[in-house]
Amino acid sequence: MGGVGAPAETARRWQTVIGLEVHVELATRSKMFCRCSTAFGAPPNTQVCPVCLALPGSLPVPNRRAIELALRAALALRCEIDPDCRWDRKNYHYPDLPKGYQITQYARPLGRGGELTFAGAGGASRTVRIRRLHMEEDTGKSTHEGMPGGATGVDLNRAGVPLIEIVSEPDLRGPEDARLYLQALRLLLLYAGVSDVRMEEGSLRCDANVSLRPAGSSELGALVEIKNMNSFRSVQRALEYEEGRQAAALDAGERIARETRHWDERRGITFPSRSKEEAHDYRYFPEPDLGAVGLAPAFIEDTRRSLPELPADRQARYEALGLPGYDAGVLVADPALAAYFDRMLRAGAAAREGAALLSVELLGRLNAAGIGVDSPECRVHPEQLAALQGLIASGSISGKIAKDVLDEMLATGSDPSVVVQRKGLQQISDQGAIGEAARAAIAANPQSVADYRAGKKQAADFLVGQVMKATRGKANPGLVREAIARELG
Ligand code: ADP
Ligand code: ZN
Ligand code: MG
Repeated sequence: MGGVGAPAETARRWQTVIGLEVHVELATRSKMFCRCSTAFGAPPNTQVCPVCLALPGSLPVPNRRAIELALRAALALRCEIDPDCRWDRKNYHYPDLPKGYQITQYARPLGRGGELTFAGAGGASRTVRIRRLHMEEDTGKSTHEGMPGGATGVDLNRAGVPLIEIVSEPDLRGPEDARLYLQALRLLLLYAGVSDVRMEEGSLRCDANVSLRPAGSSELGALVEIKNMNSFRSVQRALEYEEGRQAAALDAGERIARETRHWDERRGITFPSRSKEEAHDYRYFPEPDLGAVGLAPAFIEDTRRSLPELPADRQARYEALGLPGYDAGVLVADPALAAYFDRMLRAGAAAREGAALLSVELLGRLNAAGIGVDSPECRVHPEQLAALQGLIASGSISGKIAKDVLDEMLATGSDPSVVVQRKGLQQISDQGAIGEAARAAIAANPQSVADYRAGKKQAADFLVGQVMKATRGKANPGLVREAIARELG
């Protein structure tokens, strides 16, 4: 039996249980305990100092901004905050950690008992409990690039960069849900402004724990931890592979060993790895160089109040304005798009029609041109798009003409009313003019009139089309229809 994808019968026999451990780099300019820069991509070992190298005599000083961002994340995830949370040392030896320990939080993490609700597979609402959220410093990175004779180099620029680790309870029940949870977590942290959460650059990293248990059982099976996934898609793929592998082994009567496995993106498999995680006693102990973090209640409350509207609330607000859930989700998934839409609303746009104009018409054109709504190259401002929606709503122009107006707005940056004036695109709603055009169409198409009288009612559609053509789409289609019907008697 192949490893990939559990057959249906097997899927009924086993339930998949997943918990994620997510590391997120905080968007600070300097490191967690020193003033070194956190900028990504500098030449190796150019952003280091005695503190992040833990040279004798150096002392760490916590970065207040990092603590504030971690607190924002913990509050956004509805964690209980421990104002007296502490620092601990996690001791191990590894080339990317020459100082021999990492400062982290073990016994007293910043946050506990949070939760994240998101739209899971098939759109069903899911809530995952957050076991803990703690602060720590990042390690360095081993590299082989540019090293002679297969030697390993160590770049310590990343050592000491502020991180949070977010550990979920094993509440996820499938690979797709795991991916959707991770994407929802990313969006939440993006809205909360704590990180740029870029998986490709490593500012969001995920280890996935997965086990299977007999369907109906409430005990947890032996877990396998998977590492080295570099995209949301690979998190799902790795878990799907692992789910199939474990099911096949269990079906064959084997036991699952608790181990760490690496995801091989190219081959699409996981393989067991000897890693620094295993066979290790980290000998955690309180960090002797640092006191308790000491968060004043007022600081916690100020931070809570400073959080912006978060994705779930924004989704609910848009739905309350009448947007279908899917459409609201498209806007919320992109903070720049949601901000654009909010400005349209403030400028008086109708929610449903405005959202359609934005996400179908404007976004379609911008995507084709590779431009973002928040880019200066996007020459249509939210207020202008709202005004365009207003012109359609008032009947000044038809929805069809609005597309041409939008093209012109994008090209020139002009207000829609200016474009309509300049190009003479006002909708013709004048009864007299429309009646005249209807009579002209009837006079020019005797065959259609004969067809109509012979009972082919669709012939009227042709005549309506002729009037629209003659007025270059500007006639009010409803009025044209009425006029044709009237003239045909
Ligand atoms: P620790 O790493 O502190 O020893 P665990 O390994 O128990 O703690 O948990 C780490 C992560 O693994 C958590 O996200 C948790 O939800 C998840 N997890 C724990 N047990 C299981 C299991 N049997 N199956 C899947 N995930 C699990
Ligand atoms: Zn430093
Ligand atoms: Mg673990």
